[in-house]
Amino acid sequence: MFSTAIAGSLPKPEWLAETNKLWPKWHAEGDALRQAKADATLLWIKAQEDAGLDVIGDGEQSRQHFVHGFLEQVEGIDFENKVTMGIRNNRYDAQVPQVIAPLRLKGRVHAFEAQLARAHTQKKLKFTLPGPMTIVDTVADRFYGEGEEGRIKMAFAFAELLNQEALALQADGVDIIQFDEPAFNVYLDQAADWGVKALERAAQGLTCTTAVHICYGYGIEANNNWKKTLGDEWRQYEKVFPALAKSSIQQVSLECYHSHVPPEMMALLEGKDVMVGVIDVASDVIETPEQVADTIGRALQFVPKHRLIACTNCGLAPMSREVATKKLQALAAGAALARQRYA
Ligand code: ZN
Repeated sequence: MFSTAIAGSLPKPEWLAETNKLWPKWHAEGDALRQAKADATLLWIKAQEDAGLDVIGDGEQSRQHFVHGFLEQVEGIDFENKVTMGIRNNRYDAQVPQVIAPLRLKGRVHAFEAQLARAHTQKKLKFTLPGPMTIVDTVADRFYGEGEEGRIKMAFAFAELLNQEALALQADGVDIIQFDEPAFNVYLDQAADWGVKALERAAQGLTCTTAVHICYGYGIEANNNWKKTLGDEWRQYEKVFPALAKSSIQQVSLECYHSHVPPEMMALLEGKDVMVGVIDVASDVIETPEQVADTIGRALQFVPKHRLIACTNCGLAPMSREVATKKLQALAAGAALARQRYA
């Protein structure tokens, strides 16, 4: 009951990359970078295990950014000539590579870190990939054509590549494959209309557990400002959750603590495991076990006990290592308290 997991990313140590950044520059190259990524991955596996988490991840230590880390291994993408593009419906500008030709994987994308993580933890291993719709929103298109039709075509092309990598990750021994789809909270109609279908294409044929993470973004200024415009009730999940409930995806990760998401939204996910965000990633204040257990208690009104997983609201990448480590401990301690309270 109330197993614990993180959404995905963790801060990179300063000897690996720039800190407090979403697109940090690496601090090493070649073999030294590979070794530093491996060291950071092992360090975070240990930290998650020491905190007492039940599901372990690689902390995304081997990728610069959760979307572009995948795109770097895709043929047909021009990384040399990045362009500035407003992403998440122009919420903020990002330097993005361009799709210029048919898309194909150059080879495995995440074999190194997935196999490393698998070799170093006996616990359940979760691995994250960007979802097709969020990829489409984080790359410039010069190939698939204007408008919605082009976006859909490109999303399904990426879904096929994601599926190849996901099947390979499963063969590496990954227990849970999670697709990150913050775009589902931005393009609400499209998410329900074709986003979930593209996601299912990405997860096709997987026999391991499948998950999707939908959030209001990292705790960066642009996202925090956006949240202030969303009013007292954040009902973005209302459109996509019913579509997800009907889908083959088994777990859904959502933002809860310190959000204005009405808890009854969770009732729309009947039949799914719900990863409830009980840790705020936009604040350095460490949650108390009581606060975490209270959030779990509120979610229990709408999620059956055996389906509730305690999770972070989003990734912890832009935070300090110290804060992130304490938040992992708070997550585990809070879930333990909730087990006593609600058993
Ligand atoms: Zn997120």
